[in-house]
Amino acid sequence: MKLGLHVSISGTLTKAFEEGKKSSSEALQIFSSSPRTWRTSRITEEAAQEFRSSRGDFAPLVVHASYLINLGSKNEEVREKSIKALQSEVERAETLGADYLVLHPGGGDENAVTYIGEGLSKVLDSAKSVKILLENVAGEGQKLGKDFAELLSIIKVTENGKKLGVCFDTCHAFGAGYDLRQKEVWEKIHDEINDTVGFEAVKLLHLNDTRGELGSNLDRHANWGEGKLGVETLRIIAKDSFFNTLPGILETPGDLEKRTEDLKLCRELFNLER
Ligand SMILES: [Zn+2]
Ligand SMILES: [Zn+2]
Repeated sequence: MKLGLHVSISGTLTKAFEEGKKSSSEALQIFSSSPRTWRTSRITEEAAQEFRSSRGDFAPLVVHASYLINLGSKNEEVREKSIKALQSEVERAETLGADYLVLHPGGGDENAVTYIGEGLSKVLDSAKSVKILLENVAGEGQKLGKDFAELLSIIKVTENGKKLGVCFDTCHAFGAGYDLRQKEVWEKIHDEINDTVGFEAVKLLHLNDTRGELGSNLDRHANWGEGKLGVETLRIIAKDSFFNTLPGILETPGDLEKRTEDLKLCRELFNLER
């Protein structure tokens, strides 16, 4: 199980690898531009080349798409901006040589599934070497993707939707009502995956503890051992014959030192429990 952190690219792209090394990450996740503004800076070919050649063994390399993107918005202007922004996310991820681009599907009114499918259909063909992963959400607001059935409904209405993959976030799942502290719930998740998107589609774990209660729909990441999931959940994942084969990215709060402690704890538990 390759583990790593979401790291910063502030200042320069290759800062990601410095933080990756300092934290002993194997996998890495980055934003390819600021996740909270629509304005994006283009990555020059020179910067991209430097990034690709400094990457070393970090794999998989994951880009997390901007939080502003909402392909399912009921506001047409937001949808159009979102499609453009996603298009440029795909281009940047390709330029950087990323393996995966993680996207929150978004939501709005009862047409959201259709809108999301339309948006993805427009962008999906430009994703050649990078695979777009739809991430499960905590179910806040009208956001779609709180379970595998909802993710499948999006995949089904997307042209070439089979090219899409799935990222499973533990914090979001707990907020959406999956009690991940119970081994039986993970067995239920296996059944759900088997009946919906299929195991082949699930490519990545987001390993976050959470401040939110079970079923609270809250998306508040916590450091491992300080949240509601706790190390018991990590022990279950370590023994899970499917999930312990996936790469895992930690998106826990705090400075690099604090997050590196989280990574160490996860790694120790996984090595111990297997
Ligand atoms: Zn996540
Ligand atoms: Zn989150």
